This record gives sequence, structure tokens and C-alpha cells, in this order.
Amino acid sequence: MTAPAKSQNALLSATGTTVFTVMSALAVQHGAINLGQGFPDYEGPEDVVRAAADALMDGRNQYPPLTGVPELRTAVAEANRRFYGLEVDPASEVVVTSGATEAITACLMAVLDAGDECVLIEPLYDTYLPVVRMLGAVPKLVRLTPPRWELPRAELAAAFGPKTKAILLNSPMNPAGKVFTAAELAFVADLVQRHGAYAICDEVYEHLTFDGWSHIPLMTLPGMRERCMRIGSAGKTFSLTGWKVGYITADRSLAQNVMKAHQLLTFTTPPNLQRAVAVGLAKGDDYFAGLSTSLQARRDRLGAGLAALGFGVLPTQGSYFITTDFRPLGFNGDDVAFCRHITETAKVTAIPVSAFYAGPDAPTHYARFAFCKGEAVLDEALARLAAWKASRGGEVRAAG
Ligand code: PMP
Ligand code: GLN
Repeated sequence: MTAPAKSQNALLSATGTTVFTVMSALAVQHGAINLGQGFPDYEGPEDVVRAAADALMDGRNQYPPLTGVPELRTAVAEANRRFYGLEVDPASEVVVTSGATEAITACLMAVLDAGDECVLIEPLYDTYLPVVRMLGAVPKLVRLTPPRWELPRAELAAAFGPKTKAILLNSPMNPAGKVFTAAELAFVADLVQRHGAYAICDEVYEHLTFDGWSHIPLMTLPGMRERCMRIGSAGKTFSLTGWKVGYITADRSLAQNVMKAHQLLTFTTPPNLQRAVAVGLAKGDDYFAGLSTSLQARRDRLGAGLAALGFGVLPTQGSYFITTDFRPLGFNGDDVAFCRHITETAKVTAIPVSAFYAGPDAPTHYARFAFCKGEAVLDEALARLAAWKASRGGEVRAAG
């Protein structure tokens, strides 16, 4: 006698495949230019890639130390000092992870108990909510509203209460392209301190800011050194998204639990890639300045082209992404339908911005385009969208 199989984990069973995978598969299926999932179509710096290749060949291919190879922990500590004036002990205050994705989960695990409340800001990256729920914690959602994406201070303050354990803050923000201002960060810092809470700071786009906007880590604000877990990603900083090397900077009082979470999740991260990322973090200021200058030019190229086509282009201060309002194009459907439609018909893929909202009443007229692509690819995507628009004679109807 065998009994019918029991149901599997309810939260995972209810979680869909990530929108990035879904849209990338659709792009491949239709031969579309993929301006959906955020990955560059160009290589990262050659010296960094070369360092990884060399490191594969020199016989250090066994488990590296749990918190990361010493070279990378030292490089992360030095980058903290150089860019933000943060003094960090590489031995006890840096944890290297397999991507920022793991880092986010490890930091949430480090502080949240079942029943704790965790403040999340919509639009939000797609791993935040399911992980908070998997930990049995209670998400408290606060929404930024386009096109200005201003922090609603009263609502944020109301979301904090006696059960608040943490806030997860993403700046520069995906998909909004928002860089939080010093005043907004001070407001967040005050709330965190008044409630004895922690901040998990997803700062993967820290070096990708434009127009003179500079990223300010929440951790640098007075009183926040012991409250923040600051997350970086080599994938974004070195245009090598497949490498999946992340790094967490946290006060030693927090780093212990972060380390134990990492121990349970992956234990370690490939040592050759870690050593190459250490080479990258030591690169000169011109590298970091050049990264944002070149991305700003790509943003401007795509943004101007989309605006000329009639899209409402929202400002982007940082990240890989432009958010657009497609209503001026006369499309008769929601953002999911629009992104599918342009993938299938124009052969250009974007991401529906409603995917970054948990609530059912999300805005449904925005599409996110990634501009981290070669100029010829951006131009070809714009030409395809222009041809598609012309073929619809101005009035664009939802497919089907
Ligand atoms: N956070 C945000 C806001 C992101 O956009 C991404 C996507 N790259 C990640 C975290 C994950 O970064 P990683 O690829 O290093 O895991
Ligand atoms: N961060 C990337 C984006 O927003 C996607 C990463 C992923 O595919 N998980 O496009």
C-alpha cells in the first residue's frame, strides 16, 4: 500500500518562475533582442577575466575559507574605505557569497525570526518577498509611486512598529533607477534606530550612477554602522553577471550570523572567481568612473530613442534600467501583454514592471528596458520598435 504523495512546500509551490527567466526564454523563442533580463552583452574587464583564468590553473581549487579568500575580503574592506570612508575589518566584517542573491537571503536569515516584521519597498526585486515569507516573517510593504518614486515618509513611518526587525532597502533601485537622497536615507536611518531594527542594503548598482548622482550607503550614516548589512555584486561592478560573486559588509556583531547563514546556504564561493574580483576591486578610479560614463551614454541612447518613438521615459539615476510608460503608443492592454506583444511582434523584449509589485493593484502601464548593451544592439532594437510602430499605423492593439 502506498499513500498519495503529500503536498510539497506551499510557498515554493505558489512561487512562479522568475519573470527574467520567462522573458529571456520568450526572447530566444522569438529571436528578439533581449532588453529584458539585466545582463551586459559585452565582456567585463580583460585583466579581471584573465586573473580568474590564471587562478584556475595555479592549484587553489579546493574549498576556500568560509567567509571568502583573504585577498577578496581585504579588497572589499579597502573598497569600503576608498569609496565611502568606512573602516572595516576584513577578517571579521566581510562575508563573500555566491552572488548578491545569496547575500540577500543570508542577511534576511541572519536577523529574522518567524513572526518578525520586515519592511519592503515596492517596486521590489523578485527574491525579497518569497524569502521573507519562507522565513515566516511578515512583510510590510511600502510603495513608491511612479513617475517620481518619492519615499512616502508617513507611510514608511507607519510601516515600522514594535515587531519591525528589519528593512530591506535597494539603492540604486531596480527597476525604478532611483538613487535614494541623503535626506531620504537619514529618514530611514532614524526609523531603523528608533525601532532597534536592522537594514539590509542591496547596493548591487552602487557604481552604476549617472548625472553626478552618487550612491550613499545607509551604513555611512551616523549610528548605522552596527545596524546595516551592505551588499555588493561583482556581477554588476565588473559586468560579469554570470560569475555570481557577492560580498556583504557588516559589523562583526552581525557578520557572525550572516556567516552562519552562508554556511547553510552554499558554504563557499569559487575561489578563482573570488581572487579575480579582488583584482577588479583594486582597479583605478578611472575604471569605476568609466563604467558609469559608458552606461550613462547607453542610457541616453536608448532613452532618447524610446522617447522619439513616443514612450514616456522616466528618469534613471542609476542601475541598468529605464522605465517607460507605453500608454502614449496607444497599446490596448496591460504591461504583461505589452512585453509579450513587442517580443513576438517587434522582436524586442522588455520586462513588465508589475512583476516588481506584490499587490494586485500594481501599475500596469510600465515596461522596463535594459540599456547595458552594445550601441549597435540598442540601435537595432530601436529600429525594430520603429518598424513595429509604423506597421501598426499609430494605433496599437493587444495581440489576440
Ligand atoms: N539585487 C538586485 C536589485 C538586482 O537587480 C540583482 C540582479 N542582478 C541582484 C540583487 C542579484 O545580484 P547577483 O547576480 O549578484 O546575485
Ligand atoms: N537582476 C536582473 C534583472 O533585474 C536579473 C537577475 C536574474 O535573472 N535573476 O534583470
